[in-house]
Amino acid sequence: MQVKMQARINELQKLMDAAQVEALYVTNPENRYYLSGFTGTAGALLVCRDNTFLLTDFRYLEQAKHESPGLTIIEVNDSYAEALASILTANSVSGLGCEGDHLVHNQFLMLKDKLVSVEIKETSGLVEKLRMAKDDDEIKNIEEAVRLADLAFAKVLPMIKPGVSEREVALQLEYSMRCMGADGVAFQFIVASGPRSALPHGVASTRRLQQGELVTLDFGALYHGYHSDITRTVVLGEPSPKQQEIYYIVLEAQMRAIEAIRSGVRASDVDKIARDIITGKGYGERFGHGTGHGLGLNIHENPRLSMKDDTVLRQGMTVTVEPGIYLPDWGGVRIEDTVVVGESDCEVLTRTPKDRLINLINLFSLS
Ligand code: ZN
Ligand code: ZN
Repeated sequence: MQVKMQARINELQKLMDAAQVEALYVTNPENRYYLSGFTGTAGALLVCRDNTFLLTDFRYLEQAKHESPGLTIIEVNDSYAEALASILTANSVSGLGCEGDHLVHNQFLMLKDKLVSVEIKETSGLVEKLRMAKDDDEIKNIEEAVRLADLAFAKVLPMIKPGVSEREVALQLEYSMRCMGADGVAFQFIVASGPRSALPHGVASTRRLQQGELVTLDFGALYHGYHSDITRTVVLGEPSPKQQEIYYIVLEAQMRAIEAIRSGVRASDVDKIARDIITGKGYGERFGHGTGHGLGLNIHENPRLSMKDDTVLRQGMTVTVEPGIYLPDWGGVRIEDTVVVGESDCEVLTRTPKDRLINLINLFSLS
């Protein structure tokens, strides 16, 4: 563990050199965990050229020593800014990078106040860049998070029927995955039925499901800090021709995009493949979000499978593939899997079937 963390810090130091940052103050909890293994809820890292300090308060000192044995643990008594000032002075550091995307404004003002002789420079996405490609242990955690979400969905399917509320479905999904070992939910689940399925982020409401409706379920598990993300759209009864049409366009876009994912391909090119299929069928205007996103310690990370992201995909990156079509007042379909980028293709971690629009009522009236 210690060797792995040190290797990550070494890689970060190269990025810091390129960004001309002498020392980096890491305040984002996921970035801090990624570099140190420290799971306390209060703490920050100071990564210098030849030493890394973990600053935390009395409550977490023992935990910090145990979880981050390779780091120099500093107890913060008054404020982080003051602790930082004394380390920087003792180590003759005159330039400090902060995480511009995460550092709270008032903390920044405190730093400026206490670090009078230090030049503070904001950086963006340095640790996040390292986090894009996952190592084997990280992929195992994501795999488990995906497995728990798949199992929970299979368990909950029989209860998705007319009369049940969206919120009850969401709660059951959460309950089953937590019973099976999930540490929590990956995000607030989306269960969007009928016309609400046209809302790409329709968080589960008190609305009751009705016969004949599409229901979009978007959910995921949290396991050892890592997230999974899956969406399935089902229908409560015999699907209409229109429901079938929309479903199979989305499915084709999703599968073609997955087929294109491999090391060396640009994120924006994967988006284009899915978008072109949907646009070709006349629904381009109704697919208003990116095709997917990286996920790991955060539910949404880089790279983004979007028009704007030209990141070249690399082995070990974990991304979702989730095109959708949303028709106001009618409903919508989205299909989402979590995949790992490989050398010549990608591995789809999600196992829940998607090859046809599942009619839940038929599925369970047979048994
Ligand atoms: Zn999702
Ligand atoms: Zn997603």
